[in-house]
Amino acid sequence: MLKVENVTKYYGDVLAVDNLSFTVNEGEIFGLLGVNGAGKTTTFRMIMSLLEPTKGKITLNNQPVGYNISEKIGFLTEERSLLTKLTVKEQVIYYGTLKGMKEEEILKKLDYWLDRFKVSEYKERKIKELSKGNQQKIQFITAIIHEPDLLVLDEPFTGLDPINVELFMSVIKEFKEKGKMIIFSSHRMEHVELFCEKLVILLKGKTVLSGSLKEIKKNYRKKVIKIIGDIDIEELKKAKGVLEVKKENLEIIVKIESDDYVDEVFKIVKKGENINKFIVEDASLNEIFVSLVGEAYEK
Ligand code: ATP
Repeated sequence: MLKVENVTKYYGDVLAVDNLSFTVNEGEIFGLLGVNGAGKTTTFRMIMSLLEPTKGKITLNNQPVGYNISEKIGFLTEERSLLTKLTVKEQVIYYGTLKGMKEEEILKKLDYWLDRFKVSEYKERKIKELSKGNQQKIQFITAIIHEPDLLVLDEPFTGLDPINVELFMSVIKEFKEKGKMIIFSSHRMEHVELFCEKLVILLKGKTVLSGSLKEIKKNYRKKVIKIIGDIDIEELKKAKGVLEVKKENLEIIVKIESDDYVDEVFKIVKKGENINKFIVEDASLNEIFVSLVGEAYEK
């Protein structure tokens, strides 16, 4: 288990992380979210023991994080730190050896992963000759080659096309199935919604929301109703509990204060014609995030 307990980090006078706590269990994918400057990278650096917390402690499997357990952690940093003059093979051997692996074992695994990421033809090529997305794949391979207990992924999907996002996600899910811990950051809420169970949202180092995605969605009471049909939109706008009505292509999207107002909307929809869709959905994580961060900024 990764345990972050009451961690605070100052850079001089700048408070980057303020009293942050969370845990990541085996087989869990955890999301660390926040706008630029929220404190995500600082938190990752502390987990990787590249930075000391000013206060609080971080443990992995009950041991304080530090050089002694670096073999148990694999990471993809935001600055994508590859040794660009090396070939792909040299690069992965270099990192694998640092993590205590034998060259023979590294080469066997390397062939598997290069094939899996569809970059086998670049094995003997210099890193600098690869496209950005392919460099990202190689960095990801260096992060996972030693099968770490904990994977720390800072913005792993940035710069990837949708097919490669899928590929990265499927590999990350496999690690989850194997009981590994995964912590990742992203600005893209749809990525978070797709596959993380627990999350923390940071704003200027402070935790504005934390917990399981399911609970967060349940507790956020506003709902969205999607309707297709010929309905009096003006009447909908005036109904009790309705916050917003907009039309997106064929669909009418109605935002309501809570479940309590579904009936109000339904009564109006029944008066319309050609109704062939009426679905009540939870608000998206993006909407929850914007609403929270917006509110917090205004305070
Ligand atoms: P981004 O999404 O832009 O990468 P982030 O959430 O990773 O942002 P951090 O890089 O952790 O945020 O930064 C948190 C805060 O700490 C910011 O206010 C930033 O300016 C500050 N900060 C980060 N590194 C340093 C440093 N070396 N010295 C001083 N302040 C720093």
